[in-house]
Amino acid sequence: MIIDYHMHLRSPREEIDHTVEALERFVEVAAERGVDEIGFTEHVYYFRQTRELWTMPYYTERCVYDLDRYCDAVLEGKRRGFPVKLGLEVDYVPGREREMHDLLEPYPWDFVLGSVHEIEGHAIDAEPNEGLWKHFPVEEVWRRYFIALRAAARSGLFDVLAHPDLVKIFGMRPASEDVFLHHDETAAAIEAAGIAVEVSTAGLRKLVGELYPDPGFLEACRGRGIPVTTASDAHLPGDVGRDLDQAVALLRRAGYETVTVFESRQARQEPLG
Ligand SMILES: [Zn+2]
Ligand SMILES: [Zn+2]
Repeated sequence: MIIDYHMHLRSPREEIDHTVEALERFVEVAAERGVDEIGFTEHVYYFRQTRELWTMPYYTERCVYDLDRYCDAVLEGKRRGFPVKLGLEVDYVPGREREMHDLLEPYPWDFVLGSVHEIEGHAIDAEPNEGLWKHFPVEEVWRRYFIALRAAARSGLFDVLAHPDLVKIFGMRPASEDVFLHHDETAAAIEAAGIAVEVSTAGLRKLVGELYPDPGFLEACRGRGIPVTTASDAHLPGDVGRDLDQAVALLRRAGYETVTVFESRQARQEPLG
């Protein structure tokens, strides 16, 4: 089975479009590329219902869309028989776990992605010399990123960690011993939390030019029996399923034979590929 469990519902011009017509364009590309099931995972900060959680201007400027309308578009896709799942990409905000839980609770999610894109209001993935990179050396940015990712794993809010080593986005890394320890410690936290990690092809389209996560991180996950999903992180219909063959090949090299399918936040394993 081939799944693409991370994408953002957009028009072909990359404008927000939370309609079943927009969803159909993603479904068509998935069918053409042999992707069996796709999961929509809009960014949580686009919804006005989440306004009180944010302080960063990048987020507060964006939360104007309606969460119910988004969910209804995906649920209508399900009613029409499309192989789609309802998800959300949620930024982990330390200390706001209760509010986030209460906000997510009423909706019929199939799965919720947990992401770390910023720390204390400083972006990790904006520009190589901006955000957190402006304030700290590479070693410290990595340390803070993985501390936040482990806290996200432990929060109990998420089913899958998205692009789990996003911090390598610009190709900047600390010494290999440090990298190994971050991966190992984080895999231990993910195992204890009982959640999955995403193998994402989005990194191939960034400066780093690699899949997320690193082969070493994935092997640490495999060694601990951590389940996986595959994802494109498409922001355009044309990116659905993009490079998933490379994600599957990486998983096979790490020893994986199954992929995780979610329904109403229940996970099950299906044969990979
Ligand atoms: Zn993301
Ligand atoms: Zn995303």
